[in-house]
Amino acid sequence: MIKEIDKQFVANTYNRFDAELVSGKGSIFVDAQGKEYIDLGSGIGVTAFGACDEKWIEAVCKQASTLQHTSNLYYTEPCARLAQMLCEKTGFSKVFFSNSGAEANECAIKVARKYACEQKGKEYYTIITLNNSFHGRTLTTLAATGQDCFHTHFNPLTPGFVSIDASIETLEAAVSKYKAAAVMLECVQGEGGVIPLSEEFVKAVRTLCDEHNMLMIIDEVQTGNGRCGELYAYQSFDIMPDVVSTAKGLAGGLPLGATMLSKKVENVLGFGDHGSTFGGNPVSCAAAISVLERLDREFLDCVQKKSKLVFDTLLGSEGIISVTGKGLMLGIKTQKPASEVVKACLADGVLCLTAKDKVRLLPALNIPDETLKKALEIIKKNCK
Ligand code: PLP
Repeated sequence: MIKEIDKQFVANTYNRFDAELVSGKGSIFVDAQGKEYIDLGSGIGVTAFGACDEKWIEAVCKQASTLQHTSNLYYTEPCARLAQMLCEKTGFSKVFFSNSGAEANECAIKVARKYACEQKGKEYYTIITLNNSFHGRTLTTLAATGQDCFHTHFNPLTPGFVSIDASIETLEAAVSKYKAAAVMLECVQGEGGVIPLSEEFVKAVRTLCDEHNMLMIIDEVQTGNGRCGELYAYQSFDIMPDVVSTAKGLAGGLPLGATMLSKKVENVLGFGDHGSTFGGNPVSCAAAISVLERLDREFLDCVQKKSKLVFDTLLGSEGIISVTGKGLMLGIKTQKPASEVVKACLADGVLCLTAKDKVRLLPALNIPDETLKKALEIIKKNCK
């Protein structure tokens, strides 16, 4: 019934799985027929503490029944406190809040364009991104996305973007060819197939950005907020980006994007340069505070242990070619087509995702080990 209504009235952009989910608790979802599923997708890396987590519900309900929205014309405590918390945990200086990953990236790009225009001249607008990257679905973030399959039918995209292979030589060549404002990258390319970038490359980007006064923008929309076993994935590389964008898991299931700005660029955007009606919404910010409070070192170490459990369980298993990724952002290359494995897992009560030709896992960061082990056995069975 719901399926038919959805098919009739919701725009055709999602090829949904044949499951109508009605409730959830932690890493278990229940569908309309009462069937249970172990969730290894967490709403594409959003519900950091799983479905209907008690502490998260408490934070959201408390703020929703106090003040749900004011607009950005006024000060509110959750917005200010969340910005303070993000800055204190990372060393960034200021934060712009929006509602999604694409919007967080739009802000990062606007900062880079304005900074370069003021520092180097208006012809320095090019943003260098990587082949196989994914930065969002707006026309500008599509332009930043280095995968042509997303561009078809939507040209012309916002001009001033080039995407290159993740190699130091290629980057050096691009920097001398284009008048660039910034280099933008994901530490682990998520939608591109769960491909981690090498530390050597990420560090070389930092050096080249310093040498050419370009901004280093890291898109942590998917990798951030504990997903890769650090608060933000760049933190494992001993570098400091100029701008970091994040969203997805930040508010644990409510829409929130954040663009973190280093001291160098904290005042690039001034009054009227950017805005968002819902950005920094008090309920989303209260939810994010409750998420960030729990992502301490001890918790992040547990994420890394769960990651090791996945690698140890899957590697060497029949039908599994490789496992890539970091923390609980994982890609499994299988002998069978990934979509076939995911479909079989769904039938067996395990929800997985795909990323290009891989089975992708983005479980809740607190998924119990026993639940994870049970789901991994089902994946193994369906890979044979
Ligand atoms: N950037 C990255 C790395 C992403 O993985 C995504 C979404 O998958 C986005 C940006 C876009 O985020 P949103 O769908 O919230 O706009």
